[in-house]
Amino acid sequence: MGSLKKIALILLLIFLLPAIFFSAYEISSLSKDEEVINQIYQDQLDAILYSANQYSDDVLNGWISKIQLGLEESGTEGGIPEKINQLLMLNSALAMVFIGDTLGQSSSVKPYTLEDSLSGDRITREVSLLLSEENEKINQLIVYQGSGFQKVEQLNCNIELLSGFILLAFILENHFSEKYICGMVIEPNLFIEELLGPKLQVIAKDKFILSAYHRNSATPIYLTNTEDSIQFNSVARTKDLWLLPDYTLGISTMGSSIQDLVNERTNTNLILILILDAVLILGVWLVFANVKREVQLAQNKSDFVSNVSHEIRTPLALIGMFAETLELGRVRSEEKKREYYSIINKETSRLTGIVNRILNFSRMEANKKILKIEPTDLNETIREVLNTYEFHLKNKGFTYDFTPLLETGICADQQALVEVIVNLMDNAIKYSDSKKHIEITTGQRNSYGYVTIRDYGVGIAKHDQKHIFDKFYRVSSGDLAKSKGTGLGLSLVKEIMENHNGNIELKSEFGKGSAFSLYFPLSKTKERSHA
Ligand code: ADP
Repeated sequence: MGSLKKIALILLLIFLLPAIFFSAYEISSLSKDEEVINQIYQDQLDAILYSANQYSDDVLNGWISKIQLGLEESGTEGGIPEKINQLLMLNSALAMVFIGDTLGQSSSVKPYTLEDSLSGDRITREVSLLLSEENEKINQLIVYQGSGFQKVEQLNCNIELLSGFILLAFILENHFSEKYICGMVIEPNLFIEELLGPKLQVIAKDKFILSAYHRNSATPIYLTNTEDSIQFNSVARTKDLWLLPDYTLGISTMGSSIQDLVNERTNTNLILILILDAVLILGVWLVFANVKREVQLAQNKSDFVSNVSHEIRTPLALIGMFAETLELGRVRSEEKKREYYSIINKETSRLTGIVNRILNFSRMEANKKILKIEPTDLNETIREVLNTYEFHLKNKGFTYDFTPLLETGICADQQALVEVIVNLMDNAIKYSDSKKHIEITTGQRNSYGYVTIRDYGVGIAKHDQKHIFDKFYRVSSGDLAKSKGTGLGLSLVKEIMENHNGNIELKSEFGKGSAFSLYFPLSKTKERSHA
């Protein structure tokens, strides 16, 4: 159907295509969003690691200022300058401080330490040897210091006594602008645990786990959270510790990792998009089904108008023609006259039938027809109909059987009951060709009394069966499609049955005949049939 295709196309263009494009765009941008989120997150992690690094630099600078103060006191001979002593006492990670002049003379190097294992002349010698070996680095430090930049440099410490320690050198100046090579010997593990640890705890709170690793080992030497119950995700980001180049800081999320969160978000978004699409498709389908029904109804209605015109025109033409012939006195024989009168009579009742059916239908449509539902004898009503129809049936060459098996009364409007039976009988006659036999049976099933009208006519194809009760619907194929009708009969029957709280059942096979059964509620008062 052209108009339906057009509507389907419009629905597709207006609703489905944008939805499909939107979904495709959303799905493709999902991964981009995730990249952005991930990038932002990684930057955040970097910033956290940066702040930890910044903190260790601050600690170091604090120490250097203390050593500067110590340098000023160190004019006094012997013992450890007070400030340096304090510094060593408060920070177990700082194993030794030494001060020497820039000429690198071994006699001038003064090591200050609280640890017995590191005191003695040997260490003094070895440190001054190291300083002269690292001459180049020292000179560079002097240049930096000269230009006002306090740089700290790690020296390659090959002193056996100091193995496992880190040796940092820097240049300080006293009041008289005399430059001194100063150094700090740091125990890295202690530095991380005692100084960096508390700061890392503060940074990590309970959102992250910060960890520190030695370059050669995968097991962390420090973790901000060691509870077993906490799920430790793989380290999301690492950064070298500026101060301790052999060490790395790592950061991991607690609970679900960022990848989990991102995946979860992606899944939720995907599911939402799918639900949205499904709802939209369902909506479009519902709209289309409704429109299709309306279009079908409109089509049926227009067919109805042409059917009815045709139905009315034929009897009118016949009546007109025979009446005129009679009026002009052209018919001589009495027999012929009677035949013509009978034709006029028959066509008039056909016209009345058509008009009545249309009127009934429109009354039913407007719910104007008030049914008088009362206990009724179904068998008796059928007998009356058959009495009136007998002549008509025989005339058309039909035989019939009536088997009344129903023993109680039904609830029905007498007039409407006659109308539905006549309608079904009419159809059985209209749609039978070679085998002209009709069987009428009544009976009881559950709380219903039924009548079945069975014919052996053309039958109804499966795909037509669900439509024949629609208003104005007529089967459009087959030889008998041309037989006259309005497409109203069965829809009227259906409407009447609904108003009776009853049912219609159809069993039909194409080419073999049809059986229509009408089910009426049984009446409470038992009326025996006069079978
Ligand atoms: P009408 O008979 O005026 O066309 P109905 O509503 O009574 O309209 O019937 C609708 C259609 O159902 C008919 O066009 C016909 O094709 C089909 N039909 C109804 N009754 C029978 C029957 N007993 N056998 C075969 N087809 C039938």
